[in-house]
Amino acid sequence: MLPTDVPALWLRDNCTCADCRDPLTDQKLFQITDLPEQLAVGTLRALDGGDAVDGAEGWEVVWAPDGHVSRYPAHWLQQTGEPDPRTEDAKDLWGSAATLADGLPETTWSAYLADDAERLRMLEAVARLGFCLLRDVPLRDGQAQQVARTFGFVRETNYGTQFEVRVEERPNNLAFTNVAITPHTDNPYRDPVPTLQLLHCLVNDAEGGDSGLVDGFAAAAALRESDVGAFAALTGTPVPFAFRDDVTELSTHRPLIGTDPMGRIREVRFNNRSLGTLRLPAEQTEAFYAGYRAFARLLLDPERQLDFKLGPGDCLVFDNTRLLHARTAFARGGARHLQGCYADLDGLLSTVGVLRRREAQPC
Ligand SMILES: [Zn+2]
Repeated sequence: MLPTDVPALWLRDNCTCADCRDPLTDQKLFQITDLPEQLAVGTLRALDGGDAVDGAEGWEVVWAPDGHVSRYPAHWLQQTGEPDPRTEDAKDLWGSAATLADGLPETTWSAYLADDAERLRMLEAVARLGFCLLRDVPLRDGQAQQVARTFGFVRETNYGTQFEVRVEERPNNLAFTNVAITPHTDNPYRDPVPTLQLLHCLVNDAEGGDSGLVDGFAAAAALRESDVGAFAALTGTPVPFAFRDDVTELSTHRPLIGTDPMGRIREVRFNNRSLGTLRLPAEQTEAFYAGYRAFARLLLDPERQLDFKLGPGDCLVFDNTRLLHARTAFARGGARHLQGCYADLDGLLSTVGVLRRREAQPC
């Protein structure tokens, strides 16, 4: 590929000379409006041997009309783009527990801490599959937050920096009772929504209280496959979600299935407990409800659910924009105590990037 085969503005915008990018931070030093109106490649010269760019063959462009000089390695010109790591294109969708071919992505806390490669494997599992499971995590108060701090930052909310999942005397949320909780994403009434959730099991002696995970992206893709109209109704309808207690009044309007500008699935919100009242024209409301029921049927299909029982020391880390989580009812007198916290995917993906960089260039 030649520099004359690509759009001139794009090429010039990506000039890496010291006038265009700060050598220390690699950040851009000009605005797009600073570039000449009639920008074009003036002269072109092949670089190799002693002229090569950082030892690689490439091209030198002298720009018209301003005479600016840029150098581009040939391999850089050939590169293709990476998919947005948050969209379905960058995920391994699993439609059922059986399709998790390699079993659960899990490791022990000590292996996770001791070995960068093992830590990277777990965090990449969260990025690709939506979750990982850490075993033998110390049974200490606040430990879920310690886990979050190994890859990112704790997100504080009205539930605090952490929350206790156990039977409360006066619960402000059904999660803090012993009833069954059907598959849902957390906090859909929040914008931005917490993109990661951690659940650390301290005690689980109760009869019942099993956990389940469902891949919301896989279900959304299946809906698109089987019923394009239903998929369009869900991506195109803003849904009011709300939560209130004595001191909180949260609400937001977001679709059940969020797509990026290219139409790729990027976010799922599903929570029957906090879905509010739609006020839309009858036709739109009917289309939404038909889609909502079709999507719910897929999400609530037991075949799609990965079931397991968290034991003391297990810490589940999962993508709250993609996976739904559930738990079965448990005996009222039974002891069950989980601590949870929220965190965000941007921090986790940053840690994945740094660990990959280190793996590629061991010091
Ligand atoms: Zn430049």
